[in-house]
Amino acid sequence: MNDIPTRARAVIIGAGIVGNSLVYHLAKLGWRDLVLVDKGPMPNPGGSTGHASNFIYPIDYSKMMMELTRDSTEQYKQLGVFTESGGFEVARTPERMVELQRRCSASKAWEIPAEMMTPVQVRELVPFLDESVILGGAYFPTVGVVDSLRAGTLMREHAQSAGALTVLPNTEILGIDTANDGTGAGRSGGRVTAVRTSAGDIETEMCVICCGVWSPRLARMAGARIALTPIVHQMISVGPIAKFADTPGEISYPIVRDVDLNMYERQHGGDMEVGSYAHRPMIVNADSIPSIEQAVLSPTELPFTQDDFDPQLAEALELMPDLLGDERAGIRYAINGLISMTPDGHPVIGETPEVAGLWSVAASWIKEGPGIGRAAAEWMTSGAPEIDIHESDISRFWPHQLTTAHVTARASEGFNKMYGIVHPGEQWESGRPTRVGPAYDRERDLGAVFYEAAGWERPHWYESNAPLLERCEGRLMPRTAEWESRWWSPIINAEHLAMRESAALIDLTAFAVLDVSGPGALAAVQHVAVAQMDVAIGRVIYTSLLDEAGGFRGDLTIMRLATDRFRIVTGGATGPMDLKWITDHVPAGCNAAVSDVTSAWTTLGLWGPRAREILTRITSEDVSHAGMAFGTCKEIEACGLTVLASRISYVGELGWELYVPMEEGGKLWDALWDAGQPSGLIPAGIGVYGTTGRLEKGYRAFGNELTGDFNLVEAGMTRPKVKAQDFVGKAAYLSQREQPPAAVLCTLTVDDHASSSGELRYPLGGEPVLGPDGAVLTDSRGRTSYVTSAGSGPSVGKHILLAYLPAGEAVEGRSLAIEYLGERYPVTVAVAGSTPLFDPANDRIRC
Ligand SMILES: Cc1cc2nc3c(=O)[nH]c(=O)nc-3n(C[C@H](O)[C@H](O)[C@H](O)COP(=O)(O)OP(=O)(O)OC[C@H]3O[C@@H](n4cnc5c(N)ncnc54)[C@H](O)[C@@H]3O)c2cc1C
Repeated sequence: MNDIPTRARAVIIGAGIVGNSLVYHLAKLGWRDLVLVDKGPMPNPGGSTGHASNFIYPIDYSKMMMELTRDSTEQYKQLGVFTESGGFEVARTPERMVELQRRCSASKAWEIPAEMMTPVQVRELVPFLDESVILGGAYFPTVGVVDSLRAGTLMREHAQSAGALTVLPNTEILGIDTANDGTGAGRSGGRVTAVRTSAGDIETEMCVICCGVWSPRLARMAGARIALTPIVHQMISVGPIAKFADTPGEISYPIVRDVDLNMYERQHGGDMEVGSYAHRPMIVNADSIPSIEQAVLSPTELPFTQDDFDPQLAEALELMPDLLGDERAGIRYAINGLISMTPDGHPVIGETPEVAGLWSVAASWIKEGPGIGRAAAEWMTSGAPEIDIHESDISRFWPHQLTTAHVTARASEGFNKMYGIVHPGEQWESGRPTRVGPAYDRERDLGAVFYEAAGWERPHWYESNAPLLERCEGRLMPRTAEWESRWWSPIINAEHLAMRESAALIDLTAFAVLDVSGPGALAAVQHVAVAQMDVAIGRVIYTSLLDEAGGFRGDLTIMRLATDRFRIVTGGATGPMDLKWITDHVPAGCNAAVSDVTSAWTTLGLWGPRAREILTRITSEDVSHAGMAFGTCKEIEACGLTVLASRISYVGELGWELYVPMEEGGKLWDALWDAGQPSGLIPAGIGVYGTTGRLEKGYRAFGNELTGDFNLVEAGMTRPKVKAQDFVGKAAYLSQREQPPAAVLCTLTVDDHASSSGELRYPLGGEPVLGPDGAVLTDSRGRTSYVTSAGSGPSVGKHILLAYLPAGEAVEGRSLAIEYLGERYPVTVAVAGSTPLFDPANDRIRC
């Protein structure tokens, strides 16, 4: 029995790479009275960290994951546990060769060294590889391996020697106590009060779950949910390999990811580790992970199921026949190892929405563990991690996304895509449809091609609009390359042009709708919004939400419906995060309730020059410009319904968002549809709303342009005055306004789409922006320039890109280039700042 403290400022559960990193960073940030608990012995308590292959590839298409990996690698280097080995991804198919080129171009955007190599060049660095099996490879020289157990020990010991930490090995958490006494910041599960361990109880108000694959089990002890599932990843170790007999240290040859087979080969001393993501998805219930006593090896090293591995091994042998086929070598170790998978592949970090003081830092790999530990510690300390990790925010999930059925379905679907060629627009197949709006059947009958957003089925375009193609001939910017025409249709561009000519009806049911009400409602919204919220009833305000460091935390509109009632409308994907953020930031003593009313309201968007004549056919209310100005909302009687009409636009046209109770949405759709026919109304999808219409107007999107890495000044979104009232991030924002911006968000247009083969190519986003010398542009804060959004601008006849450029390069008319699939395409800075490319004076909106 350990001698345990009876009280702690925070109890951290799990001493894998994540828990150790977290206590290290908390201690560095000044936290004391920390307790780290693990049911296993140190230094290898039996979690996934103890048997990882421990390699790190620096490249990821997600900027967040790339930055977390970069930070982690730096930390491993500082701890002296990183060995650079270099690493390949090799291609067996032409399609993969293109994908590798894409990865090399993406690497350039983040200044990650990468180059394409011929099979012979690959063999020069990996002399035991049969180059006849491959078409080529991408080489990443900064790939390396780490000693993650040693790193954990060093970090833990650092926190101990700082006098900040008590470590309790061999101590199991048996329960997490909560109090639901009204002091839990409105959480359904109240707040944490204590943890119960096999060695006694510890009182605490903060408990952090860093339990890898066990995390859902721990969360459930407190009545919370963590959306991850354990899943098997098979790995074997083959040895002794004669060729490795005399090589020094742990690794002398580059790691090889045989990505077309979903496998990797990594030298480990005298052995070769071979890992596979090619086998069937094997989901394991967190409750059925064996205890330390029951486990043959460790709880996360389940018995190997040979049949699942054999087919891939045979193919892997082709690549390295001499090594893996060496008869003197045998399989010395083989496991069904456990890793965590989440529905979207990202970690799960943050305070749980259900229980105050209960945090999750889960679903991290070795490669991003220390970075995640640091980010979580910063978040717990100041509320704003330096790296923007909102894509990992635990509160990003809607209730259905937390269900076991959803988590396991998406984990199963995602598992074999681990090394897959995944298109940026690729849609999930499992669990659909889940959320459908009232016009769903009508839309399906119109040939809607549905994409999913936050579980909602949203039309992306309508096949019934195909006849528009002929009408718009010559202005559609058709794409011949398969990659760019995948998950796209020229009908999107035709819908866009038709909207600009007449009007379009767009289903926006996926909006998240939050009501803030009560005597303190104004104070509550004022405290989170940058914009002045003390406005007349009936005003609609577009505003950013900032974190304490002045980074973007949200981007939404707020309607003032009454003296004491505001309605917040935000994106479906960010709705739960915004809900938690706003709820958490209701000032103490402020009498305001924040409620999610998303499922009560459906929204239809009606935009285009003929929108008013259509609306007028179903209402007798005054919706003229004089009667209802831009930026206002009011309830109108229309087609026998009471409709909340909000006159704003994300597509740059006259029009309205029309809100009715969910069950009345079908009737509103029908009324608008019928009224619109004489005016040429068409249904239009989110392809227009989210891309073409938006980009022509230079409207910024949260997560693309609006992230924690840039600020309101750089995004060109400052207002002339800063409101007198305090709000989250105000001090940082005031200081940002004092500095000249290091980067400026610009609209670029592609000058020439012809690739070296003569085919016209249309970049999709993420491409590096290059200066005349071919180097990626970098601002004075070290941030590289990359395309944050890309898409057609059919009305301006240009392919439009948004990108932050160093201030000195943000000059209209400046010629630059982007790299796409290894080739350079000339681009021009069309707009520096936020002036729209289309209708710069906004005449079409304010009429
Ligand atoms: C075969 C294999 C190879 C891998 N190779 C790589 C690789 O090359 N690169 C890479 O980046 N990642 C790799 N990974 C993934 C990586 O190992 C994990 O993602 C990572 O180790 C997770 O770290 P963690 O700290 O979150 O969890 P863990 O290391 O699993 O730690 C969780 C801890 O929580 C403790 N715990 C659980 N329940 C309780 C309780 N009730 N009370 C007290 N303590 C509890 C456990 O004992 C455990 O020590 C690999 C995984 C596998 C399976």
